[in-house]
Amino acid sequence: MKAFKAPFVLKEATVEVGVSIGIAIYPDHGGECDGLFQRADKAMYAAKQAGGGYRIYLPEHEKSNPCQLMLMGKLRHAIEHGEMELYYQPQWSLTKNRVIGVEALSRWLDPQLGWIAPDRFISLTEQTGLIKPFTQWILKTVCNEYEEWKKAGLNLSVSVNLSAKNLQEPRFPDQVAELIQPGRFEPSLLEFEITESMIMVNPAISMQVLGRLNAMGISLVIDDFGTGYSSLSYLKKLPVQKIKIDKSFIVDLGNKGDIVIVHSIINMGHSLGLEVIAEGVEDEFTKDLLEAFGCDVIQGYHIGHPLPSEELIYMLNRGTAPGDLKKRPRKLSPKA
Ligand code: C2E
Ligand code: CA
Ligand code: CA
Repeated sequence: MKAFKAPFVLKEATVEVGVSIGIAIYPDHGGECDGLFQRADKAMYAAKQAGGGYRIYLPEHEKSNPCQLMLMGKLRHAIEHGEMELYYQPQWSLTKNRVIGVEALSRWLDPQLGWIAPDRFISLTEQTGLIKPFTQWILKTVCNEYEEWKKAGLNLSVSVNLSAKNLQEPRFPDQVAELIQPGRFEPSLLEFEITESMIMVNPAISMQVLGRLNAMGISLVIDDFGTGYSSLSYLKKLPVQKIKIDKSFIVDLGNKGDIVIVHSIINMGHSLGLEVIAEGVEDEFTKDLLEAFGCDVIQGYHIGHPLPSEELIYMLNRGTAPGDLKKRPRKLSPKA
């Protein structure tokens, strides 16, 4: 796998080759050559389906998963035919007392299967090599929507969730630079949300990619903070500007014992010179607690659900006090 990592330079082209390796072990998976090869082959297809790498033979590799295969086909079609949607969830600044930005969250409505949760299809985009067109679609959509918000008199930052595969792609910053054309979109208004586990997949390449994105003026946010490694020495080295406290600590904050943890994370973030966002704010009491703790920005159903762009504009122009955006959108929406 290491040998195939670098591209092959042919006469006029550079060719990248992916590797999928299937492994069968004697005598556990077969006593004869033929049987072992057949099983290594099945494990290899399982590796291919997972987007590359290696798999050691397991009995479940005997059966292909028709449901997963169908979903992969539908996903490819949806991305290639522009059938996905982006919803935007408002972020409220506790210091400025207004909505200052949004988080872009993908939505997929399949005509037969209904709403499919992002947790389900994001990993599929990674497994099928669709992550590049998917990320391109997100960034293009965000740039177009930004123009609409500007026309509506809204100056919002927009936060985009990245996938682990984006951070392992050394050319990802170049692809981003091509998409955010100068004059059309301010890089300082763009934020990328990453998790600590994404960085840990390949820390060396991730650091390089993050450093370049940051040098372009894009802010970086550690998402789901508190659930991952949360290595403080690492956090100091990362070129990040914000941490987002995971919603598992925030939802129902008043009734659970997470108050001390949340307060400590906010203080620690500030000591490291980072801005702190809390997600999953569902009521006024939690908002008041976070405000008392000095949290900078909050996000959650109490401020507003993720909405299609036109509904977001409508809601923001109508009223921007916490709770004013809470009303469920008129249009049928997936469970946000
Ligand atoms: P996340 O980045 O942690 O996003 C926050 C999730 O919490 C969203 O779920 C959002 O709808 C939900 N949420 C928002 N406010 C509240 C609240 O007050 N209470 C509760 N209980 N939940 C709240 P969603 O949209 O289903 O997204 C799930 C995950 O899928 C996201 O988690 C993110 O990791 C991933 N995801 C979504 N869209 C994208 C995308 O475009 N690209 C990538 N790479 N990942 C995405
Ligand atoms: Ca996020
Ligand atoms: Ca999160």
